[in-house]
Amino acid sequence: MGSDADPRRQIPRTDALLADDMLTAAAVTLGTAAVKAAVAAAQDRARRGELPPNAVLAAAQASVSQLLAASTSLRRVVNATGVVVHTNLGRAPLTDAAREALLAASGYVDVEFDIEQGRRARRGRGTLAALAAAVPPAEAVLVVNNAAAALVLMATALSRPGGISEIVVSRGELIEIGDGFRLPELLESTGTRLREVGTTNRTAAADYRAVLGERTAAVLKVHPSNYLVSGFTRSVSVRELAEVVREKQIPLVYDVGSGLLRPDPLLTDEPDVATALADGADLVIASGDKLLGGPQAGIIVGRKDIVERLRRHPLARALRVDKLTLAALEATLSRPETRVSAALHADPEFLRARTEALAAGVPAAGGEVVPHDGAVGGGGAPGLGLPGWALALPEAYAAPLRHGHPCIVTRVRAGRCLLDLRCVQPAEDAEISLRLSEIAATEIATTGAEH
Ligand SMILES: *Cc1c(COP(=O)(O)O)cnc(C)c1O
Repeated sequence: MGSDADPRRQIPRTDALLADDMLTAAAVTLGTAAVKAAVAAAQDRARRGELPPNAVLAAAQASVSQLLAASTSLRRVVNATGVVVHTNLGRAPLTDAAREALLAASGYVDVEFDIEQGRRARRGRGTLAALAAAVPPAEAVLVVNNAAAALVLMATALSRPGGISEIVVSRGELIEIGDGFRLPELLESTGTRLREVGTTNRTAAADYRAVLGERTAAVLKVHPSNYLVSGFTRSVSVRELAEVVREKQIPLVYDVGSGLLRPDPLLTDEPDVATALADGADLVIASGDKLLGGPQAGIIVGRKDIVERLRRHPLARALRVDKLTLAALEATLSRPETRVSAALHADPEFLRARTEALAAGVPAAGGEVVPHDGAVGGGGAPGLGLPGWALALPEAYAAPLRHGHPCIVTRVRAGRCLLDLRCVQPAEDAEISLRLSEIAATEIATTGAEH
């Protein structure tokens, strides 16, 4: 390299690019620094071989127009990983109904106002009613910021007056929920002590029974949603636990994690909220943005007196959800066919046909349609593969797909870039096809990038 034939020598210089009329005009609105950064990023892409030198100006203009149009730094991503609840990509994508509801709620709304009577009304009553209707065994319902907030509120509100309270939990269920946050530390941050029972692989009803006492605030069962313990294992079912706590009148709380409201035949190992209540849990905690497919939220359902204790606790005010969440959650609950459930239950033959059409539309990319398992993700149903297909491309496609507009995130495995359409809306296939043709035309992807 380094000869005059090196295309990197042809990358336009910064001052030449900044002299462009469109970029000069944009600098007035965005500031020179932002425009310079866009120019530098486009030059870098060309240096890495992801862009031909003559496309640098257009790439800089494209990112600058995106900046001009956008009021958020969050960028739309096409999730072509096959991982449905992708934590790094914002977990659940909202339904169209939920997105419309967000927009409607963004102005003045009657979130806490009775239009009929002209006076204050219960905040978010429509959402709470929709949640109650979606989980018929629940006597009462409450929504807070996320499941972690629900756990903190539970541990705080149920603590026993005077002295230290204990929450009894199995050693096999002391999970880390991600990004370094651990359930035991979260609960203990409330001043409650965890009383661990059993071992990592085996816990019996007698282990719980032996430690219940005056200081016990609750027995907590946690669904270890992001890992599997297999082999010589034993855990205590909700039904058995309900028996254990009944004698002592101690609340049984079950954190099911995912937000699955009813059983799903595809997800046989995932607990659901309705069954947990029917089996005797007094309080069930779940996420709104995992398998429920809605906005981030902590769902709390169960016995009326306990839910009421949580709702009246001062901390509840600090953890309450805003009108946007309430609106999106209600819309999600009232239409059970979410994007999450569509992606989970996608017909493999339909995925195959779409993937083959994509491959056929861009022969220059030289992609091959291969079997590929999707995953539930987001710390749900570990070990469960969702049979499907992927377009296998040279690995060098991954970076330009990610850096373009829209940003397309794929899975890189064993030197290949795997593009899985499970979580891609069919209307987005054409955009992907276009990007693939653009990348194939630069030929960088087929000849191999430099890094
Ligand atoms: C994901 C998860 C949480 C945390 O939920 P957030 O809504 O992200 O706070 C808590 N418990 C379990 C079992 C989970 O799977």
